[in-house]
Amino acid sequence: MKKNFDVIIAGGGLAGLTAAIQLSQHFNVLVIDPDTYPRHKMCGEYLSMEVNLYLKSLGINVNDLSDVEIDNFSFTRGSRSIKTATLPLGGIGISRYSLDLELYNKAREKADFLLDRVFDVTLIDNHFKVITSNHVLFAKQVIIATGKRSLLDKKFARPFIQKKSPWLAVKMHYKFDMPNDLVELHAYKGGYAGLSKVENGNVNLCYLVNYKSFKDYKDIPTFNNKVLTQNRALKEFFKNAIPVWEKPISISQISFEQKEPVEGKLLMIGDTAGLIHPLCGNGMAMAIHSAQMASNYVTQYLHNHITQDQMLINYSTNWRKTFSSRLRYGRWLQKILLHKT
Ligand SMILES: Cc1cc2nc3c(=O)[nH]c(=O)nc-3n(C[C@H](O)[C@H](O)[C@H](O)COP(=O)(O)OP(=O)(O)OC[C@H]3O[C@@H](n4cnc5c(N)ncnc54)[C@H](O)[C@@H]3O)c2cc1C
Repeated sequence: MKKNFDVIIAGGGLAGLTAAIQLSQHFNVLVIDPDTYPRHKMCGEYLSMEVNLYLKSLGINVNDLSDVEIDNFSFTRGSRSIKTATLPLGGIGISRYSLDLELYNKAREKADFLLDRVFDVTLIDNHFKVITSNHVLFAKQVIIATGKRSLLDKKFARPFIQKKSPWLAVKMHYKFDMPNDLVELHAYKGGYAGLSKVENGNVNLCYLVNYKSFKDYKDIPTFNNKVLTQNRALKEFFKNAIPVWEKPISISQISFEQKEPVEGKLLMIGDTAGLIHPLCGNGMAMAIHSAQMASNYVTQYLHNHITQDQMLINYSTNWRKTFSSRLRYGRWLQKILLHKT
């Protein structure tokens, strides 16, 4: 296997794959990820249209993958319907199974892939040394796109990883009759659930819950039964919905703490730079947008138009300008929507 690359990307989720597609037009790119494609991933699967044009420029037309166009929103709590709204930009309902696979197929036209896990990245004489379970590789620039939390966050002693996070998430696809153009949010004690359709007509139920609320119940079905059904709309959902998978997927320790978009000389993209509260329906678009931003600066750096330090400063400044206020509003909104009154 080749050992030297222009760019190595740790993590082949949405952010890593997007960066791989853009950067592999000009450079030798390697993406390292321990999982194979396609795969289901934790996500509400509502993709904001804000990245549609950029994805088209990369040769990905999401409208070809899904005709579930969502431009209406409703929010309930308990037995009350609190808010309905039209979404000005709107979004597409698309499963991560299909979207990540499409990006992967595009990326591998020009980028190399390695099925492995990155354990460490160090800088030696202006070159990065990337250590995986089975290889030692080298790159002029490394981008970290390892998602919400990974062993690299521990390695780099990032402050958010030192704190315990109370959030866990559950996702499952169902057969259920609901309008194509609607995304619903339903709040209950300690969390909220999103419902919307994906490309094959299945409905994705994806919810977030505070561990404090969850720990009194022994498992996910019991929690669904006892807590989610306290919301009238979710009670109706569980009465009629037919599960498509044998069991749900779940993850814990989801952190919404502030992170840095640059660590040392490494660029962080997607959730690795910051995770927005899921109710904003914006995380995927931010992952893709941050990958575009980082790829533009890496291109300028590798073409010797700017120095590496300028690249890091420009990315960090632009990232904050673009995303910091969204993340802040997301935190406020989540507090307000989860407040019992
Ligand atoms: C409950 C919930 C609901 C959500 N709903 C929505 C929604 O409806 N709409 C929306 O836009 N966003 C939503 N989001 C956010 C969205 O899912 C994320 O923002 C998005 O997945 C970020 O993509 P990413 O590429 O940064 O990370 P990921 O897609 O998680 O990819 C990270 C990749 O890194 C790999 N990796 C990890 N560690 C290593 C390592 N050491 N070496 C190599 N590879 C590694 C993993 O295998 C993975 O493939 C939701 C999030 C949650 C938690």
